[in-house]
Amino acid sequence: MKMDTVIIGGGLSGLACGISLAKRGKRVTIVASGQSTMLFNGGSMEMLGYVDGKAVENPLGAIASLPESHPYRKIGADRIASIAERVKLLFSDSGIEMTGSANANHWRITPMGVAKPAWLTLSDHLRIDNLNQLPAKRLALMCIRGYFDQPNAMLAKGLRDLGFEVDMIEFTTDDITALRRSPSEMRATSLAKHLVSNNALQRVADQFNNLAGDADMVLMPSVFGQSDSSDFQLLQSKVNKPLRLVATLPPSVAGMRMMTQLRHYFKMLGGTYLTGDTAVSGTFDGDRLTSVTTAKLADMPLKADDFVLATGSFVSRGLKADFERVYEPVLGVDVDADADPEKWTRFGVLEPQAYFGYGVATDSQLRCLKQGKPIQNLRAIGSVLSGHDAVKMGDGTGVSLLTAIAAADHIREKK
Ligand SMILES: Cc1cc2nc3c(=O)[nH]c(=O)nc-3n(C[C@H](O)[C@H](O)[C@H](O)COP(=O)(O)OP(=O)(O)OC[C@H]3O[C@@H](n4cnc5c(N)ncnc54)[C@H](O)[C@@H]3O)c2cc1C
Repeated sequence: MKMDTVIIGGGLSGLACGISLAKRGKRVTIVASGQSTMLFNGGSMEMLGYVDGKAVENPLGAIASLPESHPYRKIGADRIASIAERVKLLFSDSGIEMTGSANANHWRITPMGVAKPAWLTLSDHLRIDNLNQLPAKRLALMCIRGYFDQPNAMLAKGLRDLGFEVDMIEFTTDDITALRRSPSEMRATSLAKHLVSNNALQRVADQFNNLAGDADMVLMPSVFGQSDSSDFQLLQSKVNKPLRLVATLPPSVAGMRMMTQLRHYFKMLGGTYLTGDTAVSGTFDGDRLTSVTTAKLADMPLKADDFVLATGSFVSRGLKADFERVYEPVLGVDVDADADPEKWTRFGVLEPQAYFGYGVATDSQLRCLKQGKPIQNLRAIGSVLSGHDAVKMGDGTGVSLLTAIAAADHIREKK
């Protein structure tokens, strides 16, 4: 069957684009080969965190200072303002409650206790609007006995450096102690699987209510809610102080939950999600892509009017490199990268790395270029795009979400 749109890659950008199209009645298939980088997500989305090494207060206002090659400049600051509002709607329609504004970054807290600028944060996670007006004076940092994914001492130090008074309080319950018999269960994702029943949550709440002392707020690792936030809400209803979650080291329960909710919503809108399949090649007819072949459907190429490349960066194999070149492995479209391999990396893990900014070359409508010419019905979105740097600029999830919706608009508006 011929689809309206085939999207290659089922991470954050692929799903946001798929939802945006399916919501308007388009028949969409997503080919999704593996896990997405949302497994690293700490419960926040960044639009633009840093320009020239300085924290950005107003992401929308700072777009004009970005180079023209940045994906936001291709979309345009005015359109980004309205697309940013639609992103919030897309999340709430999917059952994901996030707060924040594209005009004013707030601060999220990393698992290491570092404050970073953020655009949207899950409403059950710790969010600081103003570092000079903290949301609580004294925090009870609840540390799960035997738990692996939280460097508690570093987190507490970071929070104290920000001005919080922090009591580190170790706790356990019968359920958690039983899980500790197998050390591999002491990960965020396993705890989220087991801490679900009313009784298990009551036992956690009892510990918090006994141990939190005179803290204004209880803080604990984000280990609740694999499929939605109802476990957290039930726990909060049993704890007699405000409760907030803080990001854990990956894999992230919050990231997995958001992906589950987006996938569910996409399917509810009638979208087809081909889990565990990989696009391997495409067939072109002049300046159009006519079909994509996948590993599992080798004899049945996927045909569509439009295609979207949402395969992520090097970590997701959307981009690859050998000793001589950086390339896009599925469709062989053009990549913006230094030709000289000596320039790809710099010595030192903390040094800015040129390859973070490499990616697929596109025109002003996000159409992929092949041998310098735009492919009329193939757009690239998300972290496979060139011209941005999630690590240096804190723009990763913003680029994924905003280009996804901008590309969906281009597809719908095309003549
Ligand atoms: C380590 C790390 C930490 C990060 N931390 C943060 C953070 O804290 N905050 C933040 O805002 N952003 C963060 N980011 C950036 C953010 O996660 C990404 O910008 C965003 O999630 C990327 O979404 P995406 O859909 O573009 O790509 P991805 O999430 O990479 O998804 C691409 C998908 O395409 C699939 N795929 C690849 N090739 C094929 C193929 N041939 N056929 C079918 N499917 C294919 C992949 O398996 C993957 O599922 C982080 C990124 C990384 C790598």
